[in-house]
Amino acid sequence: MGTTAVELESRPTGPPPGSAAASLLGTDLDGLRAMVDHASAADVERALRLPRRGLAELAVLLSDRAGERLEELAQRAHQLTVQRFGRAVRLFAPLYLSNECVSTCTYCGFSAGNDIVRRTLSPEEVRAETEALAARGFRHVLLVAGEHPRLVGKDYLVDCVRAIAPVMPEISLEVQVWDEATYRRLVDAGCDGLVVYQETYDRATYRSVHLKGKKRNYDWRLAAPDRGAAAGMRRLGLAALLGLHDDWRAEALAVGAHADALVRRWWRSEVSVALPRLRPAAGGYQPADPVDDRALVQLLCALRLTLPDVGITLSTREPASLRDALVPLGVTTMSAGSHTEPGGYASPSDAEPQFSIGDERPPAEVAAFLRAAGYDPVWKDWQRA
Ligand code: SF4
Repeated sequence: MGTTAVELESRPTGPPPGSAAASLLGTDLDGLRAMVDHASAADVERALRLPRRGLAELAVLLSDRAGERLEELAQRAHQLTVQRFGRAVRLFAPLYLSNECVSTCTYCGFSAGNDIVRRTLSPEEVRAETEALAARGFRHVLLVAGEHPRLVGKDYLVDCVRAIAPVMPEISLEVQVWDEATYRRLVDAGCDGLVVYQETYDRATYRSVHLKGKKRNYDWRLAAPDRGAAAGMRRLGLAALLGLHDDWRAEALAVGAHADALVRRWWRSEVSVALPRLRPAAGGYQPADPVDDRALVQLLCALRLTLPDVGITLSTREPASLRDALVPLGVTTMSAGSHTEPGGYASPSDAEPQFSIGDERPPAEVAAFLRAAGYDPVWKDWQRA
């Protein structure tokens, strides 16, 4: 069963003291944002020379002054990535369980008001999809679903994880956020990674794009990675949807500060950030404030230089040529051959995708590109004992 409205309302309003979310809320993001605007050429020079950087340096590296030295940022980001991660790029595939959703989010193809073909896979179908992905080489899947208390409840998710655990060593989840006890059940079933995009860290924008549903509770969502880590999730992923809020630099600061707080609080977990730029979706959605390629490159380099041990994920939202160009700058994980509708790997599916894909190359082709560029495509780097 899903969580009831009464349960949701009875939840504490703010993140628990000591959590990474509480630490983020205590960070002076406005002050950091002002530093971006006031950064001088000398500030950029100093930030680039420092052996270790913090959030103040992240602000400086996101500035216009730093943008003027983008080539140098890129070279340094590349060197640091090779130093910390070697030439390994992990590959994974998203596996959509369901496009049913009772929430209304203005930017999403699955939004409740959209008249689309909807489908929820049975655990047996999820297993068949997983086997098809395993046959293509994948050893890591990200289970994705809309928010539907009856069709995509906690028992259903546990059943899906149990169904695929024997054939898939790494299983991550990107579904509605849950309490710690539910995350523990999912970990016990075989799930080891949790991805929670805050979508936007700007509260006013958050309210304006999440019109209906449990997702309206900003603070409950913000603390979900803390609850997942407390339950034993080994990998934590976060992001803002770039283009939702009109200030990408403010979003970048919040993502960086959140990742930094998670690394400090949950040092046993592996933290990564994604850089998803919004794509057109069902319902006629077009991103209001698109982030251009140059800004994306600066953002990626600034995050890498500030958070050298945090993974960076790049999805098939981006076109192949751009993905290939971004790999050397700091990307450590990529999806490949993705479908964003339920079904589609084991057999064709007529369900509506969540958004359109930019890189349609099959996974073997992405792996071949990586090898040709001197990188090792990694399908699996962990096995539960
Ligand atoms: S973003 Fe998530 S909760 Fe919102 S409409 Fe899409 S699937 Fe539903």
